This record gives sequence, C-alpha cells and structure tokens, in this order.
Amino acid sequence: MTRTGIGYDSHRFVEGRPLVLGGQVIPHTHGLAGHSDADAVAHALTDAILGAAAAGDIGTHFPDTDSRWKGADSIDLLRRAAALVRERGFRVAQADITVILERPRLGPFVPAIRAALAAALDLTVDDVSVKAKTNEGMGFVGRGEGVATIAVATLEAR
Ligand code: MG
Repeated sequence: MTRTGIGYDSHRFVEGRPLVLGGQVIPHTHGLAGHSDADAVAHALTDAILGAAAAGDIGTHFPDTDSRWKGADSIDLLRRAAALVRERGFRVAQADITVILERPRLGPFVPAIRAALAAALDLTVDDVSVKAKTNEGMGFVGRGEGVATIAVATLEAR
C-alpha cells in the first residue's frame, strides 16, 4: 500500500540572513525570513511527508511559537517528520520537489540538495527529485520577493 502527500511552502527574501534551501547554504544577496532557517524546500517536503500519513503539518509539530525551533535546522525537522511517520507504520519511499524562484540559479546546487534530502530520509538520490524553475517574472516569485516550493512524497506501509 502506498500513500501520497503534497506540501507547499513559501518564504520572503530579506537582507542579513543566509539563503538555505534543501539544507544547503546558497550564495546570494538575500536570505529567507522565518523563525527557523526558513528552508522552504525542507518545509514543503516535511509537509508532504506528514500529509501522506494524515499526520498534521509542520506548524502543528514544530510551531514557530516554540523557542525550541527558533533558528532550527529544517533538515532536522524533516528527519523528525520521517521518524514520526515511521512510528505510524510508514516509510518514505520517494519524493519529487519543484522549487520556484527567479534568482539565484539553483541548478548547480541541485545535486547537493538531493543528497542532503536523501540522507535525511534514508533514501538514495535516485529516490529524490529536485527541479528548479522561475515564475517567468510573474507574481511575488517573479518580482523576486520570495521563494515557493511544491513537494510530493510517497509513503509505503512498512
Ligand atoms: Mg516554512
């Protein structure tokens, strides 16, 4: 038996923070605002995994009102979500992610992002797909105001 979940996240660009996506620090003029490290890729994937198990969302498990998660490494949250669904009898089998941003170009960092996400989920890189695209200049992403990410994850019953 398999189950599928979808996750979405977006964060606003701000000055004075590192840009962290998929666990990688990516050189850029701006980082992303957020209570944690604001890793929109890890957050969307975490929500996809939780969603597939109908186990709530990132905000219910790791609320931004809790000082424990201030500045949190979101790869650690992702690992915790995988452990949480494991306790419910599932294992993460595969994930597919689309990151939408105008700048910087994410292509050169995709292999490292796939490796980091796969390691956090005990998967091989062949089980983790990461695609990056622009929003063709449209909307908040197109104006360079932030980053959006959509993720899909498949769980298998253990
Ligand atoms: Mg987020």
